[in-house]
Amino acid sequence: MTVNARISSRDLDDLHKHMRGKIDTWLEACVREGVKVKIYQTYRSNAMQDYMYESGRTRKGKVKTWAKGGQSLHNNIEDGKPASYAIDFYIVNEKGGADWKSIDLYTKAGRIATRLGMVWGGNWNGKKKDYVHIQLF
Ligand SMILES: [Zn+2]
Repeated sequence: MTVNARISSRDLDDLHKHMRGKIDTWLEACVREGVKVKIYQTYRSNAMQDYMYESGRTRKGKVKTWAKGGQSLHNNIEDGKPASYAIDFYIVNEKGGADWKSIDLYTKAGRIATRLGMVWGGNWNGKKKDYVHIQLF
């Protein structure tokens, strides 16, 4: 894999195996408890992370992240392969698209993750709050 490439994945196979186990359980629990979620990001390369970090700082746009390349749990590599400890998800609306607004549903999905021992970004403080983000630890 080219180290400098901007790679971003939504593949669950790009999760660390411990994260994969938790996320499988979380997905099942979300179905059971009536929250429709879709994972849109698992692993991203350091180059992609740096590119996101530039947004709202050296490039026009919204601030999208507080982590530079290598600082995010999305960037984890093990044995030379993507092994992300984090996911980003959205709530699926009735039309099958993304609902970015229903904080109550994000909170419901986030609480399920917390119950399973993961960390939900919606519990972070102030500007760093990240409702779409779940990480293993
Ligand atoms: Zn994230």
